[in-house]
Amino acid sequence: MADIEFRTATTRSITQVKSALEVEIKSRLPGERIKKFWEGDVFRLVGMGADGRIEVVDGEIRAHATLKPPLSLMRGRVEQGLRETVAAAAGPTSGPSSLAPATAVAAGQPIGSSGAAEQGIGVDQLDELRSAVEGVVLDGAQAHDEFLTNFGHIHQWRPKLVVKPTSVKDVGQALLFARRHGLTVSTRGAAHSQSELAISQGGMLLDMRSMNRVLALDEKARTITVEAGAIWRDVVARTYGKGLMPPVLTNNLSVTVGGTLSIAGIGVASFRYGAQADNVESLEVATVNGDAHRCSRAEKPELFWGVLSGLGQIGLILTATLRLRRVKAMTRTYYLLYDRLDRFLKDARHAMDAGRWDYLESWCAPCPQGLKWVGGVRQPFARWFYPFHLTVEFDPGSPPDDARLLDGLQPYDNLLTDDLPTHEFANRLVPVFDVWRKLGTWEHLHPWMEVVLPWSAAAEFMDMVMPDLSPGVQVGGHCLVWPARASVSEVPLFMHPDEEYLIGFGILPAVPPKFWEQARPRLQAASELSMAMGGKRYLSGFIDFTAEQWRQHFGPRWEGFAALKRAYDPEGRLNPGFVAFD
Ligand SMILES: Cc1cc2nc3c(=O)[nH]c(=O)nc-3n(C[C@H](O)[C@H](O)[C@H](O)COP(=O)(O)OP(=O)(O)OC[C@H]3O[C@@H](n4cnc5c(N)ncnc54)[C@H](O)[C@@H]3O)c2cc1C
Repeated sequence: MADIEFRTATTRSITQVKSALEVEIKSRLPGERIKKFWEGDVFRLVGMGADGRIEVVDGEIRAHATLKPPLSLMRGRVEQGLRETVAAAAGPTSGPSSLAPATAVAAGQPIGSSGAAEQGIGVDQLDELRSAVEGVVLDGAQAHDEFLTNFGHIHQWRPKLVVKPTSVKDVGQALLFARRHGLTVSTRGAAHSQSELAISQGGMLLDMRSMNRVLALDEKARTITVEAGAIWRDVVARTYGKGLMPPVLTNNLSVTVGGTLSIAGIGVASFRYGAQADNVESLEVATVNGDAHRCSRAEKPELFWGVLSGLGQIGLILTATLRLRRVKAMTRTYYLLYDRLDRFLKDARHAMDAGRWDYLESWCAPCPQGLKWVGGVRQPFARWFYPFHLTVEFDPGSPPDDARLLDGLQPYDNLLTDDLPTHEFANRLVPVFDVWRKLGTWEHLHPWMEVVLPWSAAAEFMDMVMPDLSPGVQVGGHCLVWPARASVSEVPLFMHPDEEYLIGFGILPAVPPKFWEQARPRLQAASELSMAMGGKRYLSGFIDFTAEQWRQHFGPRWEGFAALKRAYDPEGRLNPGFVAFD
């Protein structure tokens, strides 16, 4: 199968396209390292691991490339260059299929027929939008590098324009503008996701971080209403002084409310309270035509449940009213260590059932042992241990009874008992993420492989994966193993296995670009294995699903999700390029 495959429509004649292609390629690839030649109406580009074909037929240009190292290491750039080349050859009126993969074109997806990305946005049009909105409008050609990718650093896409809206009205105007000019619209929060999310290939990128106000805190109702671009750290900072916090916080509080609600948002209290998306009272959502709607469990529930964990496909979250819960001022954490997975799993389940704990966090920690053969190369291997951090909140005047809390648990060691103000506990991982930034690994590729496993398969899966997992995963990353439960979550589109007890498992590496080709098949193999064993991938990570795997992921929910997409975004304008709706 090709690594890159797309089609672009053109109104130019075959002869015109061929000569435009030659000119474009000559200026982009002047040297001899890549051989360039015609085979009939197919332009071939061969060398440095690339085998590319650009076929010119009447009304369409079909591009197709397979990549091996070294060019495969720069797949994003190669694809971008190829797309730009083809777009230039197709000419200004190129349309239908330019953004869409071949399958979407074949299915006649309206997104393709919008011709969005290839229509130029002129200065006048940018000015038209600038005068309609109060927020910032940037020309995509001038967009800062940060807008071309996300935390994954795997895909490099250039938007046609970036809009930073400041109000519901701005979002409405931006959506109307996008519609008028046939542009796709991608929503971006803090861009901590890793696949084709929060970036835009030739469309409008709506950077929602500019809508980050806290609108209302209702202590009596225990709710807070915020704009979608608010980050969770600011939400906590606002509620904590009132003795309130959101029931579930992600490990990283620098992510936006809109961003996590669109995926799910899970954290160390999820075993009790579900996902962040479970703890939403109501939403204000913009649909692609620019209309704003209020929705909740009681009002337009279809839209509400379509947007939560909906990957930005159904609508755009403008504001969210979030549930809060009362918290105590202090936390006490017991740092237990397990040398055996079976004992850890037994105690993790015991801890979930005990009803004593507020937060449960656990990891896989390597003790490196040396080198061994893995997949034909000598690589480090480790004996894996399982740190288990169990936390309770308490009022300063009445500290917890350690012996009672730990009763029944059988760790290999009990390393530390640590008290922190609850606010600091919520921010406990800030120093870790700071180290990743200082080390420079924040800029590496992050093909995170996170999966929710059925409890019944978790040990077997980990026994197959852990022995060959390099302890190097700890450099700018980590390996998670979290106990969880199914019945605490009601969000239909947050998919998890059909068992009550679950294990969230994640290999979260920071991969230097030169190791990507080596790492990719292994992560892919772990992903495939996890799904074969009944796991459901967590979708903010590195996802490379086929259309069939998308169906399988959503299982019985797929038809409903696809129907919502057709109803609310019939032209497929919102966040294209990730979910393969056919
Ligand atoms: C260091 C680190 C730690 C993490 N820890 C956790 C964790 O503990 N738990 C967890 O669940 N995840 C975790 N994640 C993953 C992260 O929370 C998710 O990727 C989350 O979606 C990121 O939020 P964001 O604001 O960066 O969203 P983005 O990555 O910008 O966007 C994510 C998705 O939401 C959509 N979106 C964004 N804003 C809106 C909006 N207003 N309306 C509609 N759609 C929108 C985007 O289009 C995209 O599809 C972590 C990530 C990192 C890098």
